[in-house]
Amino acid sequence: MSLVNGNEIFAEARKGHYAVGAFNTNNLEWTRAILGAAQEKGTPVLIQTSMGAAKYMGGYELCLNLVQQTIKSMNITVPVIMHLDHGNYEAAKECIEVGYNSVMFDGHDLPFAENLEKTKEIVKLAHAKGMSVEAEVGSIGGEEDGIIGEGELADVEEAKQIAATGVDYLACGIGNIHGQYPENWKGLKFERLQELADIISTPLVLHGGSGIPKEQIQKAISMGVAKVNVNTECQMAFAAATRKYIEEGHDQNDIKGYDPRKLLAPGTKAIKDTVESRIEWFGTPAAK
Ligand SMILES: [Zn+2]
Repeated sequence: MSLVNGNEIFAEARKGHYAVGAFNTNNLEWTRAILGAAQEKGTPVLIQTSMGAAKYMGGYELCLNLVQQTIKSMNITVPVIMHLDHGNYEAAKECIEVGYNSVMFDGHDLPFAENLEKTKEIVKLAHAKGMSVEAEVGSIGGEEDGIIGEGELADVEEAKQIAATGVDYLACGIGNIHGQYPENWKGLKFERLQELADIISTPLVLHGGSGIPKEQIQKAISMGVAKVNVNTECQMAFAAATRKYIEEGHDQNDIKGYDPRKLLAPGTKAIKDTVESRIEWFGTPAAK
């Protein structure tokens, strides 16, 4: 199977009360680890690039080609959705142009009327090419200028209006935050999730999936979350495994232990293990 859009996969996930994982890639190792884990599990997977990661790697077209060619060379047969994570208006338009399968237009920092207008426009452009769109209502907390904010709650009325634009999945703040969770974090706000799920049939997206306890993630999935974003957890697993390799002196004492193919291998394996474990948490069934 080649690249596919996300519409049916996520609509089925919401109906079936499971989620499909969305994992951020940063380079070749990340791409191989994410695709390899999905293939091992036999499940669909969403692989996404943030604007920053795409810039780091050399642009959206390069990212898309990297994923396409890796699918080919690894004989990946599960459905893969290539997605833009937290794109602004220009990035979303560029990814639609380049040929991603799915884009997130994140207009949460715009005045609501403008977020709504631009979301409509992106939906029209993307759907004309058979691509999926994710939008965001309210803000998802996280570290900004060193201050870790509480996760905000999406406004139900605004969420309803954004959902009505025809977006294929919707990210709503329910107390979740990006990056590492502070010790005094109060957990997901399930009352708000219930209010949103009651009036919106669009698959809901949980951002900041790294660090939320498994039980809370699974409860959110049972209530309507169909896409869970995981990024920080893979980064931390990669860093820990790489640190261990170096601290144990393998780069200096093993034969050619400094070779990047050896030095990056434990970290790559750690990403793959993390992705596989999250696929299990999310209850993603094998692709038909
Ligand atoms: Zn996010």
